[in-house]
Amino acid sequence: MLRINEYRRVESLEEAYGLNQKKNNKIIAGGVWLKIGDRRLGTGIDLSGLSLDYITETDDVFMIGAMAVLRDIETHPGLLAYTDGAVKESIRHIVGVQFRNCATIGGSIYGRFGFSDVLTLFLAMDAEVELYEGGMVPLKEFVHMPYDNDILVALHVKKKPIHIVYKSQRNTATDFPVAACAVSEYDGKLHVSVGARPARAELLEIASDAMPGTEDGIRAFAEELAGQFVFGSNRRAGAEYRRHVTGVLLARALRELAGQKQHERRNGEMK
Ligand SMILES: Cc1cc2nc3c(=O)[nH]c(=O)nc-3n(C[C@H](O)[C@H](O)[C@H](O)COP(=O)(O)OP(=O)(O)OC[C@H]3O[C@@H](n4cnc5c(N)ncnc54)[C@H](O)[C@@H]3O)c2cc1C
Repeated sequence: MLRINEYRRVESLEEAYGLNQKKNNKIIAGGVWLKIGDRRLGTGIDLSGLSLDYITETDDVFMIGAMAVLRDIETHPGLLAYTDGAVKESIRHIVGVQFRNCATIGGSIYGRFGFSDVLTLFLAMDAEVELYEGGMVPLKEFVHMPYDNDILVALHVKKKPIHIVYKSQRNTATDFPVAACAVSEYDGKLHVSVGARPARAELLEIASDAMPGTEDGIRAFAEELAGQFVFGSNRRAGAEYRRHVTGVLLARALRELAGQKQHERRNGEMK
């Protein structure tokens, strides 16, 4: 059970940051992760009065406020178009719509959960986190940082010509994934993000010309890629099973990525 001694709906990020420096105090975002497990908080710091639930799109960037909920991200027309539906594919399996109307991007990215679909997806994009104290930090660095008392204010996704595909596998619908990956291509590189290892998602970046042109080549390449990540076991799946399934998912993602590029070439279109 979650017990909170004092509840504070803060009026500024400065106030939130100050309160968050005390060991026993915690930011409450959607609260859906925090409320499972047995915890006692000194002060629960509620960010909901700070208008951080925005998703803003400009010509260059998507800015997603920390309190934007997963459902709004999953259904955002600009993000759907930009990711060719990958954003929806990564989020739609998470529990249920009511749940995704509560869980936030701030909690999902700050949490750096070893099962996170959301982190796995955004790691394959050119994304940065905006921290109140730490400023802008590339997501691929943030993912390795230890937990501290900073506040995640927003996630910024730089817009560039991109192809991206997301794949995951679950033992049963709506459970945590046992394998998850996102593969993208931008800036002349393939970006291969693998999550649900079950540890924080990891990113591998390779020159685009490494992409094979044949079916056999894709299968072998996907297996080789999967072999470069470290997997672990838990009650949902063993390490070897995860590695194998990740190889299969990577092959599917690479095939789809090649299909997207072919389609684009045929239609002469560019995002
Ligand atoms: C039963 C269950 C099943 C789930 N299944 C999946 C799944 O299949 N795939 C998936 O990707 N995710 C899954 N999740 C995770 C979920 O999608 C959210 O990532 C998670 O609930 C955290 O979001 P929240 O808004 O509830 O955060 P909270 O529970 O409010 O907070 C989580 C942590 O982040 C901290 N925090 C929150 N916001 C900030 C901020 N702005 N700055 C600094 N620290 C902050 C909090 O202090 C806390 O430590 C699941 C969660 C649950 C409870």
